[in-house]
Amino acid sequence: MLIDKSIFPRPKVCGGFIGPQNQELLSTLGVWQILIERGAKPLTKSVLYSSSGSVTIPIREGQALGCSRQLFDAALLERVMKEDVEVLEGAQVRRTFSNTRGFEVEIDHYYRNKKYVIYTDHLINASGWRSPRVKASHVQLGLGALYNMPAVLEQVSLFCCPRGHVGINPVEGNQVNVCYVVQEDLFNEKDCDGQKILDYWSQENPLLGRMLDGSERITPWKAVYVPARAGERFFENGIWYVGDAAAFINPVTGGGVSIALMSGRLLAKSLVAYPNDAERLKHYTEYYRKYFQEQRWLAGVWGGLAHHSFSSTAVIKLLNSNNFLRTGIINHSHPRVPNELIYQYAGG
Ligand SMILES: Cc1cc2nc3c(=O)[nH]c(=O)nc-3n(C[C@H](O)[C@H](O)[C@H](O)COP(=O)(O)OP(=O)(O)OC[C@H]3O[C@@H](n4cnc5c(N)ncnc54)[C@H](O)[C@@H]3O)c2cc1C
Repeated sequence: MLIDKSIFPRPKVCGGFIGPQNQELLSTLGVWQILIERGAKPLTKSVLYSSSGSVTIPIREGQALGCSRQLFDAALLERVMKEDVEVLEGAQVRRTFSNTRGFEVEIDHYYRNKKYVIYTDHLINASGWRSPRVKASHVQLGLGALYNMPAVLEQVSLFCCPRGHVGINPVEGNQVNVCYVVQEDLFNEKDCDGQKILDYWSQENPLLGRMLDGSERITPWKAVYVPARAGERFFENGIWYVGDAAAFINPVTGGGVSIALMSGRLLAKSLVAYPNDAERLKHYTEYYRKYFQEQRWLAGVWGGLAHHSFSSTAVIKLLNSNNFLRTGIINHSHPRVPNELIYQYAGG
């Protein structure tokens, strides 16, 4: 059973960059083809801009897609339903009780005005980032809106700006997803107004202003809280964690979607292959770190560098002067998907 508080399709603050590392898994599941049929845009390169220059990084090892989360998440959900998984949209878990034999779970299906109790062996938390219980010192906000753009490029563009960065990604039709991460102090200085921040950055970074010239925003700004960093959490009180709920990935570099997909795959493998939770946890943790630790670290480094105009200019110069760094390290900072995880459970 899958329980989600949203009703799909629904928008979500996310760049919508589905990296090439996802192509094989999503193709195996038949989702990649559906995304393209429904208008997701194949991308050939990513371009990183500072206020004074840019570097182009070709997308290698497969294809990337620009895709709204409205389309992407609904297509994934349809795929889940084909496996005869019961899906409750507009529902939340209210209480859980556990003993050595499993869980009793109280579900409030508020969209249908119903309450359920179910019994299950495993409970998996895939609810995304946690909000802090108290005010955190390192806080960022993620904001996103769709724009109509007269001439859409086949590239994902990332603009480094003072105290934040902006991603512009073509999605379905003539639309682009304008999505950014901003530090909380700047967000407050600009009256918590999504448009004022983008206008300020368009002045600071003329290349951003030029790209947005002639485009028109067609949805309101939507905002989410983004932790600057958060620890890992794989298993607590008998509950398993996957995706952003398990560990944070810096949104600056993308890759969060693929970690979410692959950590689900990895957990499934651990649950099926091992007879008890101690062995499952050992396997899940070890493999998670093996596949994703380095990428999460690199994503954090790139994320930090992109937020400061001095370092972003230096990074762009360095990447332009060094082919190995440009093609190797940046591609490496996107989590790779091990084939054994893709094929072992293909179709299952
Ligand atoms: C500004 C920004 C830009 C980003 N850009 C990219 C990008 O371009 N490419 C990329 O790969 N990654 C990007 N990311 C990261 C990416 O969005 C996440 O890593 C990814 O969505 C994680 O997937 P998830 O399934 O773990 O969580 P989510 O996608 O957050 O899904 C969690 C689901 O749980 C549901 N839920 C939450 N709480 C409850 C509850 N109590 N009960 C029931 N349901 C609940 C929600 O409705 C939601 O559907 C970006 C993030 C941000 C903030």
